[in-house]
Amino acid sequence: MVPDPAVLGLDVGGTRIRAALAHGEAVLLTADVPWPQGLAPRQELGLVADIALSLVSQSGMASSLRAAGVALAALTDREGCVIEWPNRPGWKGLAFRALMEERLQVPTVVEDDANAAALAEWTLGRGRGFRHGLVLMVGTGVGAGLILDGRLYHGHHGWAGEIGHMVVQPEGPACGCGRRGCVQSLASGRALERWARTQGLASGADVELAAAKGEAWALEALADAASWLGLGVANAVNLLDREAVIVGGGVSALGEAWWGPFERALRGHLMNAETRSLAVLRAALPETAGLFGALGLARERAGLTLLAETRAS
Ligand SMILES: [Zn+2]
Repeated sequence: MVPDPAVLGLDVGGTRIRAALAHGEAVLLTADVPWPQGLAPRQELGLVADIALSLVSQSGMASSLRAAGVALAALTDREGCVIEWPNRPGWKGLAFRALMEERLQVPTVVEDDANAAALAEWTLGRGRGFRHGLVLMVGTGVGAGLILDGRLYHGHHGWAGEIGHMVVQPEGPACGCGRRGCVQSLASGRALERWARTQGLASGADVELAAAKGEAWALEALADAASWLGLGVANAVNLLDREAVIVGGGVSALGEAWWGPFERALRGHLMNAETRSLAVLRAALPETAGLFGALGLARERAGLTLLAETRAS
């Protein structure tokens, strides 16, 4: 009898590294490690591989390991080389996938973290049952994954779904991508932090607290950020005729002061809004969505069904 294969999932983010080892449908071991300071890029990559290999050796499943999936917060090319990562500029040019495969000794799939989270939300969360969707991850930045005909759509370079860098206000605030007025520069957690600083506060969470107390400037800030996102999403829905929009990430956890303006702007900018049915839903998975997406990619690479397909049966 051929033993069930094991797969690794990794979520390599801006602040932490999450890892999970799954066997069959069961997640056997997990790790969650904040990035240490002072490592060179190659050492950082070595640490990611060490964390993964430590789970493999603890589980005793080295001989059953078939594939690894990585949700990476960086922009990569089709070969899994890092093109840029604002959080870790030194990673530019790093052959991430090849180096991981060398260490892990199994085929490794590297995916944009928003795409991986979208895939998880689509297969395990609110996206189940839909075929045409857009999954947004609104946290420090604004990421998105496009589900076309039930599958994650990558585009020519693998960069499809960058709704966060859709320009909606050409003279607007500077964005991390070097341009101005992108959705991300107006609607992300970082944009809310900028509002907070204008009021002498430290963080975007302070804006939420002030809004809960009914402070007009804070309600206006949330509504403004949410409306810019709604405009960008409406443009995407008009272009691609989506069936469902699912929103996750820290900002999506905000209450009605954010959701109300978001949905009003979204529906208000839709073509044929009165005849179009569009589900606008809050994501079901917590911040570990990227890790579950990475496990799903590894399972797919190993020739197994996605977790959702096995769970749905
Ligand atoms: Zn941008």
